[in-house]
Amino acid sequence: MGEASKSLNFIEHIVEEDLGNGFPRAQLRFRFPPEPNGYLHIGHASSICLNFGLGLRYGAPVNLRFDDTNPAKEEKAYVDAIKKDVEWLGYQWDTECYASDYFQQLYDWAVALIKQGKAYVDSQSSEEMAAQKGAPSEPGTPSPYRDRPVEENLALFEGMKKGDFEEGTHVLRAKIDMGSSNMLMRDPIMYRVLHKAHHRTNTDWCIYPMYDWTHGESDYIEQVSHSLCTLEFAMHRELYDWFLDQVTETEKVRPKQREFARRNLSHTVVSKRKLLRLVEEGVVKGWDDPRMPTISGLRRRGYTPESIRNFAETIGIAKRENLIDVSLLEFHAREHLNKIAPRVMAVLDPVKLVITNYPEGQEEWLDAENNPGDEEAGSRKVPFSRELYIEREDFREEANRKFFRLKLGGEVRLKNGYIIKAESCTKDTDGNITEIQCSYDPKSKSGSGSEESLRKVKGTLHWVSVAHAIPAEVRLYDRLFSDESPDTHKDKDFMEFINPDSLKLITAYVEPSLKTAKPEEQFQFQRLGYFNVDLDSSPEHLVFNKTVGLRDTWAKIQGQG
Ligand code: ATP
Ligand code: MG
Repeated sequence: MGEASKSLNFIEHIVEEDLGNGFPRAQLRFRFPPEPNGYLHIGHASSICLNFGLGLRYGAPVNLRFDDTNPAKEEKAYVDAIKKDVEWLGYQWDTECYASDYFQQLYDWAVALIKQGKAYVDSQSSEEMAAQKGAPSEPGTPSPYRDRPVEENLALFEGMKKGDFEEGTHVLRAKIDMGSSNMLMRDPIMYRVLHKAHHRTNTDWCIYPMYDWTHGESDYIEQVSHSLCTLEFAMHRELYDWFLDQVTETEKVRPKQREFARRNLSHTVVSKRKLLRLVEEGVVKGWDDPRMPTISGLRRRGYTPESIRNFAETIGIAKRENLIDVSLLEFHAREHLNKIAPRVMAVLDPVKLVITNYPEGQEEWLDAENNPGDEEAGSRKVPFSRELYIEREDFREEANRKFFRLKLGGEVRLKNGYIIKAESCTKDTDGNITEIQCSYDPKSKSGSGSEESLRKVKGTLHWVSVAHAIPAEVRLYDRLFSDESPDTHKDKDFMEFINPDSLKLITAYVEPSLKTAKPEEQFQFQRLGYFNVDLDSSPEHLVFNKTVGLRDTWAKIQGQG
């Protein structure tokens, strides 16, 4: 995969340094730790590619760990969707793990901490505890329960576990340092009471461990060597280490947390919580709506795993957050689809064209290459006849010399077919063109080898035969948000920036070979862009999504820079 020749990112430098200092290569282990509270998005793709990329580079196992400690927000359906997306991206995890599988171990360790006087049950309200936290520059106030006797703590914690208490009445806190300059070290909460059924442990537990207490210990249980997370956890590292200090045995691998920058994509939001709002408020049709920046939305839109991986690879791993322009993602879609998508003809905005000197009732099946860039892609036959549809914008009664399409008195080649000349056109009472009359040169057929077939004309148009074309629903998408960075405005909710015209439905006419096209298949509609078959499609009612146009807006942006 050329892995070795690439330059190393800063995380890989950290791993190399550890190996250099004698850390055994065979003990390298990574994990990707999603919380199953929503679908994965393009930001997660960066983390997936980083962790699984490390696994590939070092031949090390990578676990898929569900960080499922909040039953209020988590669901089995999300677990399934996440697994599907990671697999689809092309990665294989070593072990499928769940933080909930460690609930008993975590509980036992918590009991041990209480016995050592390092954890206590606090029976104040969350408001009281918040008021005692202090500020970074002033120490916090110890809870009146901080010095509760061990026996009392043990009894209360057991009561919490047994379900004797209401939510919010007691929490278990680590007894660390109320004067620490790191606010997270001021006796962080380890457990809270939650009377909610969990999608895996059902009603076995009514106390649930907090993220900080769970994450590092889970890494330790799984013997993860490098635990990579996003920058907002940098301040948590001290606590991560403190919790590990309480349980680490010398002969075992001690996980190391390191942070990298979150990736944000322009004109969208990458946060499960915000994406959930789009779903719940009906702005989109679901998590896999093709306008969503979710992995499943991108898949439904026609993106390939390769294009997403190449995108993640290109943006790499950074130490600082920044906004990545969505056109870079589109560039990678286009680049890969150009290699793999068969070419077909479809007309999105049809106007009828009649070839007056072509015999009525005659049809021909013309040879058409499936991909000029790939000989192995083969060819197919497309039907040609006297009446065709072409794109309305490909014809003008009059135009200057820069208009390389069809104008009255002018010539163009019909893709895979003949050279035609526009003779006249008919209009309705509003002046809209309803039909174009042309003549054709019977000797100019593409590929026939005749002198006329080699004659150069300026333009080539795509077309479909009226009698053979199949109507198809085509869904055209625009950015979901009109603002580049909708969730960064202080005084405005990101929902205010929804683009009301992000979806346009049209009926197009497509060549008959598409009759058998299957959901998720990708095509290039020649001269128009890349389109794929939507999951809603059937042979009786074809539905296509526009993945991305042919024009490279990314290159344009680069050029301006
Ligand atoms: P969200 O706010 O969307 O729920 P999260 O960080 O809470 O994001 P998790 O399910 O906890 O979501 O994330 C799993 C992993 O993916 C974590 O290691 C997290 O840091 C990483 N991750 C999440 N979002 C991004 C992003 N935008 N860029 C890079 N990595 C991300
Ligand atoms: Mg989260």
